[in-house]
Amino acid sequence: MTYFSLNHNSPEVSLEEAVIRGLAPDKGLYFPKTIQQLPDSFFQNIENLSHVDIAYEAIKQFVGNEIPEEDLKPILKDVLSFDFPIVEIDENIASLELYHGPTMAFKDVGARFMARCLGYFNSKNQNTNKITVLVATSGDTGGAVASGFLGVDGVDVVILYPSGKVSDIQEKQLTTLGQNITALEVDGVFDDCQDMVKTAFLDQDLKGKRNLTSANSINIARWLPQMFYYFFSYKTLKQKDKKLVFSVPSGNYGNICAGMMAQKLGLPIHHFVTGTNANNIIPEYLKTGNYLTKASIATISNAMDVGAPSNFIRIEALHNNNFEQLRANLSGYSYTDSETLDAINFLKTQYNYTADPHGSIGYLALKNYITQHPDSYGIFLETAHPIKFLPVMPKQIADQIEMPSQIKSILHKEKKSVKISSYNQLKHFLLNNP
Ligand SMILES: *Cc1c(COP(=O)(O)O)cnc(C)c1O
Repeated sequence: MTYFSLNHNSPEVSLEEAVIRGLAPDKGLYFPKTIQQLPDSFFQNIENLSHVDIAYEAIKQFVGNEIPEEDLKPILKDVLSFDFPIVEIDENIASLELYHGPTMAFKDVGARFMARCLGYFNSKNQNTNKITVLVATSGDTGGAVASGFLGVDGVDVVILYPSGKVSDIQEKQLTTLGQNITALEVDGVFDDCQDMVKTAFLDQDLKGKRNLTSANSINIARWLPQMFYYFFSYKTLKQKDKKLVFSVPSGNYGNICAGMMAQKLGLPIHHFVTGTNANNIIPEYLKTGNYLTKASIATISNAMDVGAPSNFIRIEALHNNNFEQLRANLSGYSYTDSETLDAINFLKTQYNYTADPHGSIGYLALKNYITQHPDSYGIFLETAHPIKFLPVMPKQIADQIEMPSQIKSILHKEKKSVKISSYNQLKHFLLNNP
């Protein structure tokens, strides 16, 4: 498969090069050159296929001959070694729980897939330089990337996180793994971490010394595997015989965009709903037609505090850059923190369901849509385990959440981080810790 840059000013590349580069030289996001619908027989027969077989059918055209079936299937088996349960909440509303992986947020699947692809490509070309994955996190991305890349040969991971701004559990997930993972604790906020990472990617002094790549959802290998969830849900919900609607709490729009790719491959999804917090760029765009990015606003659903959603350009490409076509496929609603907390309380009292702040926004947006379209069956994506957001959960509900084993096992581990407060310190670290 060939990938081109959506800025149309860079050469086309293989999957391997797209994964290693992350972003194209013209700063565009990579996008597959062709997209082939899957045959009807695949959808007719999907209930008889395992998760690994479904994932393989969905992704194989995007991998092409770069990873043969006998290597790709074991990678997928390893990536998908946990459950993706659908929990029915109400007659026509269900929660798709994407938090049963090692770091308890949906980013595990993409991070694990990307890590194993890089590991595979490294093992093929023994002589290539070591790769350094450099990533800034406001919480969830860092943990998923750290866990996904742990022990992968030929890859070092350097994670920048804002000191004191991530939850205790998230910090443990970043700082206790060791081996090829280093956590840099930045005296600043998330935007400072992000700025330092961006500066490093452009720094000519680092070129040739560190082979840097990113691991956020701009990377094709982190973005694409997220489409698997939608196929898995269809396998379970196919017999419902209603119009399937997915509501996705969104920040950088990688997850929902992967769902739209699944739809493009022929998965019968009737409509998408995006729920946001106060960072309501896309709901506003759908309403007004004006695409206005802003500085991000801090909220209790902080994994979605994004003022310039990086994957939106891929969503436009999937809709032929046609606003009306997009608007027919996507509805968007935004919610305040207090509405989010009300929804967490409502889900608990009404249905005895504990949702995290992100999933709750997905629920609110879905409810809004379903009320107007009662012939639909809606699935909201519960993108993280509520335990990851304990400090902002209503206390009564927080007190009842049981500590999952993935979290229990890291709480006693010792935190190891390197404190930095300026770009020069990051640069010094990168140049002196090969
Ligand atoms: C990253 C994240 C999101 C947002 O996903 P995007 O793909 O960036 O839209 C939502 N919820 C949680 C818990 C996350 O970690």
